[in-house]
Amino acid sequence: MNIEIREQLYEGKAKQVFLTSDPEIVMVHYKDDATAGDGAKKGTIRDKGVVNNKLSNALMQKLEREGIPTHYVEELNDRDTLVKKVDIVPLEVIIRNVAAGSFSKRMGVPEGTEFKRPTIEFSYKNDDLHDPFINSYYALALDLATQEEIDTIVEMAFKINDILKDILLKANIRLIDFKLEFGRLPDGKIVLADEISPDTCRFWDATTGAHLDKDLFRRDLGGEEDAYQEVMRRLL
Ligand code: UDP
Repeated sequence: MNIEIREQLYEGKAKQVFLTSDPEIVMVHYKDDATAGDGAKKGTIRDKGVVNNKLSNALMQKLEREGIPTHYVEELNDRDTLVKKVDIVPLEVIIRNVAAGSFSKRMGVPEGTEFKRPTIEFSYKNDDLHDPFINSYYALALDLATQEEIDTIVEMAFKINDILKDILLKANIRLIDFKLEFGRLPDGKIVLADEISPDTCRFWDATTGAHLDKDLFRRDLGGEEDAYQEVMRRLL
């Protein structure tokens, strides 16, 4: 693809986004920077950017083949990927198969408790408010998305869960929970955006239960660099 990279549009905690000569395409650059606890803990995970870029791209391509529309366009190199420019729906969409993290704390359910069926929840993407938990009625009241968009997002998120669970289990990894973000294309179509990586998913080794994700960093358990490499080795 003959495309020029232009000025930076945005810099987030783990990624930078650049405009390109094509107004419908931006370039994402994945960094090694990691934050946890609402920004209280800051650090780096060596080569995390490479793992997240390659893994997220591979998973999005698999999802596309299963009929899930995504923002993915083309991987340029180890850390840079072209994606469709979207208007991000300001919701963090969290799917859970097994109790962990904030769910366990809030609901008093021990980590590792398998659910009778997967569950979904939304947070309002707003750093100043620390991404508060909301329901779909709040999202409608605040005009964050339409009912039709929410219905599409919910349906896509559960389908993505089914596909990812399958892919991961073949690599002996249990998909505990994960966070998705969706975007609107100029014509209003909803597509999967952001990333799918050990930063945004909980991956447990299906045999040993070992964490293979950012919880190693969040909880100061150590070994996060090796775990990220291990996930990439098993899946790519
Ligand atoms: N998650 C994320 N970004 C966030 C919050 C959560 O990617 O800002 C992911 C997290 O990696 C996990 C899932 O969403 O896979 C559920 O996280 P939880 O609500 O349990 O939050 P935590 O315990 O990490 O604070």
